[in-house]
Amino acid sequence: MINNLRRSHQNFLSTTTDIPVWKLSKPSGSFSTNSIYHFIKSHPTHSSHLSKIWSFKIPPRFQIFTWRMLQNKIATLDNLHRRGWSLPNRCVLCTCCSETAVHLFSQCHFYLRLRSLVQNNSTLRPHSADSQFPENPMALVQRRDVADKTKDIWAITFFILWKERCARMFSETSKHPASLLQEILSECCIPQQQHTLKSQFYSLMI
Ligand SMILES: [Zn+2]
Repeated sequence: MINNLRRSHQNFLSTTTDIPVWKLSKPSGSFSTNSIYHFIKSHPTHSSHLSKIWSFKIPPRFQIFTWRMLQNKIATLDNLHRRGWSLPNRCVLCTCCSETAVHLFSQCHFYLRLRSLVQNNSTLRPHSADSQFPENPMALVQRRDVADKTKDIWAITFFILWKERCARMFSETSKHPASLLQEILSECCIPQQQHTLKSQFYSLMI
């Protein structure tokens, strides 16, 4: 019995040759881009959820930052630690907590003060007061009950906050949340058409 099995196994090995088979194309087994397209379409991923960011009516620098931030791909101190950097982990905005993306964009006292200014600003209020800023930044793409313009304001606020964090860390300059509000206002009050033109301009440069 054992010998028969060995013989048939050896015969199988000697008479067959390996051939590549593309599992997504059945029964042919041949590669096709069409099969990849249908596979990706039928298996929505986390990143496809994030793709909503590209429809925001804001310049690409805000879109790209938000896309990276929501995937925890920005150079926060905890991420740098994971990559082997030995740096003291202290949030430069509030100086009382460790810096993580979750802390910066949902818990930091500096962020909460800026968020309050944005929500209570008379120019932004039509878009920001009825919908609270998210406890979890991921709500930026997950919540369907929030207007597109409100999400634009969220994304711009996150970017301006990160810019301030980097200025404090690398240039040792600092601004009050009220100054950051003016920057947010100047970005948010650009007419829609001008934003579109700016987006087209930036996309040509990338
Ligand atoms: Zn902080």
